Amino acid sequence: MLEVGYLHIDNPIAIISSHKHPETEVAAGLLLLDGFDLDDVSLQKMQESIESYNAVEKDALKTRAMGICATCSRDEPLLEAAKLASRNLCLLDLRLSKIRDPIRLLELIPRLKRCGVTLSLRIRPEDLSNELLEKLQESELDIIHLDLRGLNGAGPKMVKKAKDCRGPVVMALADIGEFDDARVLMAMGADVVSLRGADPEFAQWLSLAMKEYDSISGWGNAPKHICAGGDLRGLAFCCPPVKHCAVLGALKKAGMTPEEFVARKLALARGTPLEKGEGTCFGSLVWCCKASKMCYLREAAMQKIGLSDREYMELKKKLAEDLLRPSC
Ligand code: SF4
Ligand code: SF4
Repeated sequence: MLEVGYLHIDNPIAIISSHKHPETEVAAGLLLLDGFDLDDVSLQKMQESIESYNAVEKDALKTRAMGICATCSRDEPLLEAAKLASRNLCLLDLRLSKIRDPIRLLELIPRLKRCGVTLSLRIRPEDLSNELLEKLQESELDIIHLDLRGLNGAGPKMVKKAKDCRGPVVMALADIGEFDDARVLMAMGADVVSLRGADPEFAQWLSLAMKEYDSISGWGNAPKHICAGGDLRGLAFCCPPVKHCAVLGALKKAGMTPEEFVARKLALARGTPLEKGEGTCFGSLVWCCKASKMCYLREAAMQKIGLSDREYMELKKKLAEDLLRPSC
């Protein structure tokens, strides 16, 4: 379950669907009603769409979070849309098509947030300069929604770049044809993967498969190891920095010295099952690799304390969150 603002997203798949023909049958974690260009569509129409959608919603899908995607050449309608979204506990997914000026965008975000809305920004990588990414990281934006369609393999790198900024939650809109396409984006740091125009049967299957994967694995979007190109969350699987390897670059990016890293990891593991690990390379599971990497030493240590792979990965997830929290 991902908590963002007032949204509870219980499944990492989001479906983007035209507000004129909403996809009401797919058990995704988030349904985004698209196509609200507020230069042409009234706020009343927006409210009616939300209400009519809620009316047809089946009990089994009642937990699905909802959002509205909007753009406008003027600020006022967007501010009203933010209030409307907030009243209806919907995400407002801001589209850039009519908000091209970064200065307007950066001024608009805090004004929208003051309306109490949970806010996302849908943006193409070519519109996202390093400078803008840095400023968005400092803004109150809740979700950065990367539109990665047509990028042919460069998408995961963009996700990693956004994730390593340690700012808003990352949602990735991509061409997803199979489970692994979504899993790769999640392993690089996407918290949610969104689909547009997907076959409803496939979207339904993927949503259920992702939910199950998350619950079985204990960390559905677990990163790769740092030396395999993973994002900074992969520090949870790193050994003590005793040799020259990719961990040093990652620590620099994370703003931590090797000594601080060792002290933080040991402090965070204290009193948890990760502190144990007799017979492992470094004597504690806090330094151990991902559960998917076969290791008899780790498995023996875990068996000894009755720790399952799922519990181990849940502990590593929490470790990564605490390790990368600025105040930690
Ligand atoms: S510390 Fe270990 S896991 Fe981390 S980057 Fe180096 S070799 Fe890889
Ligand atoms: S004991 Fe196994 S899992 Fe732990 S650090 Fe060594 S190789 Fe990795």
